[in-house]
Amino acid sequence: MTDHLQTLKYIQSDVLSFWVNSKAQASFNEYFYSLKQCLKKRLGIVNAAFLSFDSNSLIPVEEMAALTIETKLNAVSWQMIEASFYQQNVVKIPYILKEKEAYKMMTDLVLFQAEGKNPIGVLLVEATDAWTDFMTSDYGEECVETLTKVLQMIRENLELKVNEDQYRKLYNMTDLFHSTMDIDLILENVLKNIKDNFPEFNVELILSNDQDRRTTIDIKLFDYLSERPATIEAFVSGELTTELASDLNCRLLNAPIKGRQAIYGILQVGAPTSYLFTTTEKDFVRMLAQASGNALENAKLYHQSHRLVSDLQLINETSHRLNMRIDIHEMLLFLQKQLKSLQPMEVCFAFKHNDSFEVTDASTALFNSEKGQIYIKHVEQHFEHTNDPLFIADFSRLTSNQIEYRSIMAIPILMEEKINGFSIVLHKEPYFFSFDSFKLMQSLIHHSSLAIANSILRNQLQEMVDLDHLTKLYARSYLDQYVEKSLEKDQSGMFLLIDIDNFKRINDTYGHQIGDKILMQIALKLKETIGARGICARWGGEEMSVYVPNIDEKEAIELTTAIVAVIPNATDPQVTISAGLITWDEQYRPAFQSVFSYADTALYEAKNSGKNRFCIHDRFCQTNS
Ligand code: GH3
Ligand code: MG
Ligand code: MG
Repeated sequence: MTDHLQTLKYIQSDVLSFWVNSKAQASFNEYFYSLKQCLKKRLGIVNAAFLSFDSNSLIPVEEMAALTIETKLNAVSWQMIEASFYQQNVVKIPYILKEKEAYKMMTDLVLFQAEGKNPIGVLLVEATDAWTDFMTSDYGEECVETLTKVLQMIRENLELKVNEDQYRKLYNMTDLFHSTMDIDLILENVLKNIKDNFPEFNVELILSNDQDRRTTIDIKLFDYLSERPATIEAFVSGELTTELASDLNCRLLNAPIKGRQAIYGILQVGAPTSYLFTTTEKDFVRMLAQASGNALENAKLYHQSHRLVSDLQLINETSHRLNMRIDIHEMLLFLQKQLKSLQPMEVCFAFKHNDSFEVTDASTALFNSEKGQIYIKHVEQHFEHTNDPLFIADFSRLTSNQIEYRSIMAIPILMEEKINGFSIVLHKEPYFFSFDSFKLMQSLIHHSSLAIANSILRNQLQEMVDLDHLTKLYARSYLDQYVEKSLEKDQSGMFLLIDIDNFKRINDTYGHQIGDKILMQIALKLKETIGARGICARWGGEEMSVYVPNIDEKEAIELTTAIVAVIPNATDPQVTISAGLITWDEQYRPAFQSVFSYADTALYEAKNSGKNRFCIHDRFCQTNS
């Protein structure tokens, strides 16, 4: 056996033994360390280095430690030295490597690459005579071949192990994802996993805004206007993108968080500019993002279907309740309560009244204050042109005014295709209401519109029945009911019957139309004087009446005196009135019909004693006083 063959056998047996004796957990670095020992022993090599191939770059292998960022930062581009190995595997070290401080003393370069495969790596040595002799002998080439075979085997084995590690992590995470519908928990785990894998890097979750969710996890909102092009590209294409962001002084990896139906956001990893992500790293991030996308989608669908069911229940309950013929105020208060599920800070219901919109009592206080006017004005203007509902995510972008509430939704309340009113909800936070909330509010208002319209029509109809057409005072029938109820439930009251003096003459002199006008003038004055204390009614012809509950006799006399005195000034042409007053209280509670006849008798007396005055029914004398 020649010396060289002997050397080859030794090297082969060394390589075989470190392969056989290696621990299962050994890293590529440890194999290299053993190889280095072998080269030293067999060929006297003192200086050697190994660069391992990954994603088109050659990364220095350290003796003990796993890959650190620093070693990766010293990576060499494969393209730069690829040409050196034209036709042979052992060459003199190219200038480009020799330039590096660490490789200054190196002389030879060996490529390990199995046929048809990616390179495994390159070995750099400072040649010794023994090395040169051996490598140039017949056995040099065979030695490189053996080493290549073993290294390829080790490499594949290690890749399997790395993959297995990552798959196990992914598997555990996916397992968790399948068992939870908690979106926060999913996002938390994605972040934790990626941070565990890239502890030195900056990791960010950028999610689109269509989730109806408040989360405690630190996420960024995806903003089409300000996101980087590579990030948007990943979001739009669903493919992994990388970007050298020199302005941020980092290299960004964007992995789309993708489900079957949509892309929900981007998982972004930021590394130093000179760092190169390996294929396995990229695959890991891609798969992690994909797993979280699927989990997120499942959870979203789950929540959506739950919400859909509860939304339907809410809508159903609402229309059921509204069809129970409750009055409009009660109806709106109920709707306001239902709208609370959208978590608004302010709610408004306004209805058209003679060409302008009036805010109802079922609205929150803001809308009856000066501060609320800007929102009402904006919504009014919107509905001047369209029946479409209004959704504003950030009102501050639309107005130069100082505003407190930035999220606005407004839904029209239609009656026969025309806008009869609208409902507004507000929140101070921008982007507060989700699109689902918007649809829910639309549904609620839409399903209530008919009931509201019915209620308004019913009120109008009732008013038509209750009110006298000419004077807009209550009709006799309404008065009757009102007095009857008051006699039952109140402590005291007054009834005043009024007749215009010499009205025939007015009609004869000025005509019936002027007569009517005077009737209206008196009616207006009566309503103004009584206000909400009681009611005014048209008794019939040119006779009117006033009923006020819970009033003592003294006050009743004062009020009547004032009415008789004010009418001549309120009419043009001037007229005077005569009136008959009756008051009652706990001690004296006349029968319903008697109230009218006693007042009539008192009126008769006022006429007979000179008109333009009133007389009071004397309760102690059942006939006239
Ligand atoms: P007195 O002071 O005694 O009440 O004299 P008078 O002329 O008012 O007499 P009386 O109350 O009997 O007359 C009622 C008149 O009121 C008769 C009718 O011409 C007039 N009148 C009744 N209803 C209306 C109405 O709706 N419009 C007009 N313009 N006149 C009415
Ligand atoms: Mg009369
Ligand atoms: Mg009269």
